Amino acid sequence: RIIMGVESSCDETGIGLVRLHDDGTVELLADEVASSVEQHARFGGVVPEVASRAHLEAMVPTTRRAFTTAGLEMSDVDAIAVTAGPGLAGALLVGVSAAKAYAAALGVPLYGVNHLAGHIAVDTLQHGPLPSPCLALLVSGGHTQLLRVDDIAGKITEIGSTVDDAAGEAYDKVARLLGLPYPGGPPIDKAAKAGDPQAIAFPRGMTGPRDAKFDFSFSGLKTAVARWVEGAQARGEEIPVADVAASFQEAVADVLTAKAVRAATESGIGTLVISGGVAANSRLSSLAAQRCAEAGIELRVPRPRLCTDNGAMIAALGAHVVAAGCAPSSLDLSANPALPVSAVSV
Ligand code: ATP
Ligand code: MG
Ligand code: FE
Repeated sequence: RIIMGVESSCDETGIGLVRLHDDGTVELLADEVASSVEQHARFGGVVPEVASRAHLEAMVPTTRRAFTTAGLEMSDVDAIAVTAGPGLAGALLVGVSAAKAYAAALGVPLYGVNHLAGHIAVDTLQHGPLPSPCLALLVSGGHTQLLRVDDIAGKITEIGSTVDDAAGEAYDKVARLLGLPYPGGPPIDKAAKAGDPQAIAFPRGMTGPRDAKFDFSFSGLKTAVARWVEGAQARGEEIPVADVAASFQEAVADVLTAKAVRAATESGIGTLVISGGVAANSRLSSLAAQRCAEAGIELRVPRPRLCTDNGAMIAALGAHVVAAGCAPSSLDLSANPALPVSAVSV
């Protein structure tokens, strides 16, 4: 069966096509993404109205490209999955409306699915079925959560999350402090390669003995970087961008991997999946690989292209939801900007 995935929760219009095989494995056929990120760069963050308009313009061309890449016709589609939330209301609505129209026109079932669960499900395109249970560290622009995944199509439970900024948000804010472009993850990752991660001892938030075990905090780290940069500027010193980037990145990777490995060990879960845009970070994956190896935990990180927003992740989750025999959504499906991760399909 062929499943089409439609993603429009933020600033990427994504159309994915996958094949669900009878044995439950899911094969990637097409993954086309149109991003409006350059239109938001000068504002230092996503401008919702601009994102919605860009989705409107990109939806049909991106869909065409996906079918061309896969060598399929729209009539080959057996089901359509669309991001129903969480995300920007106007942006989500464009995808939901388009998916409804495609589903109605093709006479195929429609499945509203969860963007965050999609970030995890995408890993099955690269590494095959997820063992049950597994632990997921979801690190993206808007979320930072530790999740127990008993069933990617239905049972996801949060065991920890950030109490303030998301990890990706911290990257974006620190990049701004250092005069690096938006989004900040890729340029910090690159700058850090020439820096010393031990140069500056930035704080590790929420790691004290009285802090909630599996929660995270990144706003103190961001403030510490800001103070450090201000101090250097006040002394008339040039900012050692590479050292600051490397030291900040080390602090983020340290707390994320330490807590994820501890959560896996304490709950006796043998597999950790790291996903979401920040999973594309080179230091996060190398430190996670080292610590998981030491703890005897299998680590799965999708390739960077699959970590950031795309339609393939929604198609992959849709395929798992179809395979599980879940009921399709009704045609009055609406977007839910605050959809919790426990609501895998709606
Ligand atoms: P959410 O999924 O929570 O709704 P989102 O969809 O905007 O948010 P993603 O597209 O998953 O988020 O991730 C975008 C974030 O990933 C940005 O904050 C960006 O800076 C960060 N990011 C991308 N590449 C890297 C990298 N190599 N290192 C660190 N962060 C990165
Ligand atoms: Mg984006
Ligand atoms: Fe995302």
